[in-house]
Amino acid sequence: MEPLPNESAPRPFDLSGGHPALDLVNSLDNRFGPDGPRELLGDYGDLLRFAGQARLLEPQAAGRLAKSVTPAAAARALRSARELREALARVLYGHLEGDIPNRADLLVLERRINEANRRRELHWTQASPGAPGQAALHWQWGRSAAAAEFPVWVIAVAAAPLLLTDTLQRVRACGAQNCRWLFLDTSKNHTRRWCNMKVCGNRAKARRFQERRTQ
Ligand SMILES: [Zn+2]
Repeated sequence: MEPLPNESAPRPFDLSGGHPALDLVNSLDNRFGPDGPRELLGDYGDLLRFAGQARLLEPQAAGRLAKSVTPAAAARALRSARELREALARVLYGHLEGDIPNRADLLVLERRINEANRRRELHWTQASPGAPGQAALHWQWGRSAAAAEFPVWVIAVAAAPLLLTDTLQRVRACGAQNCRWLFLDTSKNHTRRWCNMKVCGNRAKARRFQERRTQ
């Protein structure tokens, strides 16, 4: 017999932000909505799913963490992830408004990124005899991959280049007032307006169409 689809399976994250740091910010959905925000990082399992879907965490590593991490350590890691997310949100939305970031938020980012970088190890990969020139240094996580905070560290390491390079100038907020999700505008003329054309873009188009009809 075919197994029934699991109706309680969580919905996948919508990664319309196009960058893990922005997708993380968007995991507090409806952030500015009148009905209040909706938390999509409800528990540690959600954090593992998010990091997995963002391709920052291998499925095997996520599975190992899901089994091995104690509830107390999982709760701490979830708090760290949300703290990182909210600091990113305030810095990035503020930047879009032309505001100078709050020192406290910069300290959160600094602490998380430094903490993550300290956990990485440099490893030398020797070239195999048949492939000369392939020897190289790599960052590896080693034993840190077994720590409850590992998903937070991989997100922090991914967030750093967004904050510290010109990529920051490509961050936009969705033009739909009921959305305001952050996304990375990689369009040629930097004119993208919606986090997701199919969702917010079409909704806006439909609204304009409706307005024209009723004028
Ligand atoms: Zn949107």
